[in-house]
Amino acid sequence: MADPFGFLKYERVDNPYREINERIKDFNYLEEPLKFDKRAEQAARCMNCGVPYCHIGALYGDKSKQISGCPNDNLIPEWNDLLYRKELHQAWLRLAKTNPIPEFTGKVCPAPCEVSCNEFLNGEGVTIKDNEDFIVEYAFAHGWVVSEGLPAQRTGKKIAVIGSGPAGITAAWRLNQLGHEVTIFEKDERFGGLLMYGIPNMKLEKWVVDRRFKVMSEVGIKLKANTTVGKDITKEQLDSDFDKVIIATGASIARDINVPGRNLQGIDFALPFLNAATENVLKNGTTKFERSLSNKKVIVIGSGDTATDCIATAVRLGAEHVTQFDYHAQKPTDRTTPWPEYPWQKQITYGQAEAIETVNPELIPYQTQTVEFLGNEFGEAIGVRTVLIDSNKKLIPNSEKEYEADLILIAVGFIGLNTKILKNLGITQLNVMGMTNQENYMVAGDANTGANLVITAIHDARLVAEMIDSKLQSFADSFSFEVN
Ligand SMILES: Cc1cc2nc3c(=O)[nH]c(=O)nc-3n(C[C@H](O)[C@H](O)[C@H](O)COP(=O)(O)OP(=O)(O)OC[C@H]3O[C@@H](n4cnc5c(N)ncnc54)[C@H](O)[C@@H]3O)c2cc1C
Ligand code: SF4
Repeated sequence: MADPFGFLKYERVDNPYREINERIKDFNYLEEPLKFDKRAEQAARCMNCGVPYCHIGALYGDKSKQISGCPNDNLIPEWNDLLYRKELHQAWLRLAKTNPIPEFTGKVCPAPCEVSCNEFLNGEGVTIKDNEDFIVEYAFAHGWVVSEGLPAQRTGKKIAVIGSGPAGITAAWRLNQLGHEVTIFEKDERFGGLLMYGIPNMKLEKWVVDRRFKVMSEVGIKLKANTTVGKDITKEQLDSDFDKVIIATGASIARDINVPGRNLQGIDFALPFLNAATENVLKNGTTKFERSLSNKKVIVIGSGDTATDCIATAVRLGAEHVTQFDYHAQKPTDRTTPWPEYPWQKQITYGQAEAIETVNPELIPYQTQTVEFLGNEFGEAIGVRTVLIDSNKKLIPNSEKEYEADLILIAVGFIGLNTKILKNLGITQLNVMGMTNQENYMVAGDANTGANLVITAIHDARLVAEMIDSKLQSFADSFSFEVN
């Protein structure tokens, strides 16, 4: 294991974020990664734990109901040790064993592993996410990613993967590595799913997504963009051309807020808003914005990652004022849940920090519920009427308040997958482990688990891919013999 006393010698150092006043001027990457020696020191902080919790993703306690530990069983202490020893090729192989696409988790994972790290008991935990990112970037720089993805031999079996988000990529990568011939069908013009069109450029630069698809074609995965399954490709075609089909179509149907005034202009779901900002980056680069929100007051309704990304995007587009409505009570500033449970504690996200520093120090009214969208005579939204709710979600009398707004963004989660695609494929039943009533069709990622994280999509798709492989390889057949 890494330096057994490293955690006593070195302080935790995260990849620093760029200064707020600088970074809000563009959509470039937020972080400035540490150099090799400093990164190896951070890996040295990984302790010689008897029982490491970091790689056991589990729900502990019942307050936060959030996973603590890596949901993908990544072999964290092993690759931390190898990084500390600067044995980077081995570190890469250990990392890629469970996570084929760590360049994404290394940049956007909320790192539930770090809060269940033993060192977090008394300290701040090891910088696992940043270490992971360093290893994979080193692997790309040294050409190790393609060689790790090439199959030893081909099996002649054909797999169709519908959707090119993290679940589709993971399933395709693993099944190709195991020798099957894989084709990805993607309805959009660009590949990557929410990696491309959801998560903003400052968290995940889009060349990182394109780079992955370049290596995917180099290892032999076929990629078909602008191809909607159910419209451009039928079930009959899938059945005749493929042995197995994986449905990795995500779960990005937004939850709405159905209160009076919902039809007013200027009320948007989060995803189209973020999508347009990314389209602009792809077209014009990170510093030229076609849309300006100067002189505009923006309200973001919601408290998750998507809401944060909307706030950060609105700030970059020059919003004069941003307010975020949080339905929940404010969390305590000190950790209240015991290790290794996920910390029930107030955390200021990157987007909130930007808005608080630049446009609204009072960014978040908590326990705030939207009861009406207010409009003018032209049918345009001009504000929101709210009430306060108590900890039992009961309305607090006489707590009505009105907020002005020119743009209102709804970011209150997703209701699940688009069932149209399932119906088109004759799927009427979803069973455990991604199985369906159609023997050759399996569901993976957010489409299977509901809207979640990149790492949970990876984990789910990895399990589905392994299950398909074990069925296809007929492992049993190759060792079977006739009984006379
Ligand atoms: C704004 C936002 C920010 C987020 N930030 C983070 C974060 O910081 N960290 C994190 O871990 N997670 C984050 N997430 C969650 C994460 O992006 C998702 O959990 C993850 O992308 C799910 O992967 P997936 O492959 O299952 O689905 P998706 O990424 O949704 O991909 C599904 C793909 O299927 C395609 N598709 C759908 N129907 C068809 C069809 N009929 N034919 C062909 N193709 C089809 C879609 O076009 C899409 O490309 C965020 C989500 C959002 C919305
Ligand atoms: S994928 Fe996320 S939870 Fe797993 S080791 Fe990496 S940063 Fe931690």
